[in-house]
Amino acid sequence: MIAWTGTKTVVLGMGRSGQAAAEWLFAQKAEVTVFDESKSAGVKDLARRWEARGALAVIGQEKLPHARFARAILSPGIDPKRPVVGQLRSAKVPMFGELELGARACLCPILAITGTNGKSTTTELIAAILQAAGKKAVACGNLGQPLCEVAPFSGGLDYAVAEVSSFQLETIETFRPRIAVHLNLTPDHLDRYADVKAYAAAKNRIFENQTSEDVAVIQQGLSLPKLAARTVTFSATDGSADYALRDGWLCAGADRVMRQDETKLRGPHNAENLLAALAVADAEKISREAVKKACLDYRPLPHRCEVVAIRDGVTWINDSKATNPDAMERAVSGAEGTVILIAGGKDKGFDFSVSRNQLAGKVRGALLLGEMAVKMEKAWSGVVPCRRVESLEEAVERAAQMAVTGETVLLSPGCSSYDMFKNFEERGEKYRQCVNALPEEKKKK
Ligand code: ADP
Repeated sequence: MIAWTGTKTVVLGMGRSGQAAAEWLFAQKAEVTVFDESKSAGVKDLARRWEARGALAVIGQEKLPHARFARAILSPGIDPKRPVVGQLRSAKVPMFGELELGARACLCPILAITGTNGKSTTTELIAAILQAAGKKAVACGNLGQPLCEVAPFSGGLDYAVAEVSSFQLETIETFRPRIAVHLNLTPDHLDRYADVKAYAAAKNRIFENQTSEDVAVIQQGLSLPKLAARTVTFSATDGSADYALRDGWLCAGADRVMRQDETKLRGPHNAENLLAALAVADAEKISREAVKKACLDYRPLPHRCEVVAIRDGVTWINDSKATNPDAMERAVSGAEGTVILIAGGKDKGFDFSVSRNQLAGKVRGALLLGEMAVKMEKAWSGVVPCRRVESLEEAVERAAQMAVTGETVLLSPGCSSYDMFKNFEERGEKYRQCVNALPEEKKKK
């Protein structure tokens, strides 16, 4: 236990989790300094508010004026290669992340979910199943409420179901979830990690402090170090997994629990999300009745393969949350008919030529946006006719001219949105607006 009262602590990063960490520390009467390299209007405003409460705020600089702190809390958005992190490391200031801080303070068991794709969906599914069984459970972590915000009321909870990202796992020490779910691993965040190996190593830290009393729910075939926890596997493609998709049925061992097509979640990737949630429910001895009720009622989150319009035989899908090639490929292969694909965005170091085979024959045309457009065009040359566009509005206009009955227009960018939008939600909303604003004659084919 760390005695925080009077402890000089600096919180690096003033985003949502940094704010939550600072609030929690402030409530423990720590001596809080908040730091952010940005001097945007939002950060300036937050800094003023912290100062009014007696904290120190350092903003708009790469480094702190000194490193005389007893502790530092690192936000997941801050690259450990930033100068301020080096400064604190050189001064040997002990440092961990908001997830670690929140988990130390959390009074209920934590179930944690990681993986390249499907984290939010699976986190919400698990929380919904637990709630359907009458348990007090909240979905939190990387998804919405940081764990430091949940900790103060965690004494009244049965579970905190935490989505955890690789960035958050980089800065844990003792974090030990009762159940750790690892959904899948495909290339992502290569702008931050040296290679996929480094990215995988960060994700695998979810299991680091687990013991034989804990459970690891993992995708069959994932390459992992030897785990101390009891291991349960799931797969939509390998029938030998403990939880498997067989003939359209979500199965737990030999038990056929429910048909996937009774749920509103489509595609093999969502079958895996459902199977992982089912494995967690079984490990916690939740009744099958509650599992089925929650899975059948569950509605997919917005911006994940969400149908925004079906007009004159053309289906318009918003998959703005697809921020890596694997998520994009899955959306393409799950789409009805041939696809007019709207893709591109911030350059995270991906090689999109890996997607060539998946797109060939299925994508009839690609409209490419943002920083990655030129590289994507090169990567897909000879396989997919590509055209660069200046804006999402232009992409939607052109897609409307191109698409014919039976086709899908799919926004599945394969890249994050930060080059042109505030976040994936803003990009998805913009797409929805543009589709809804199309004049009737353009929607017709
Ligand atoms: P995350 O929180 O990991 O980003 P989401 O549930 O928000 O995951 O889904 C993100 C994107 O990944 C969406 O495009 C979605 O269609 C796709 N996706 C969801 N689950 C999976 C999965 N198990 N494997 C691959 N792609 C997935």
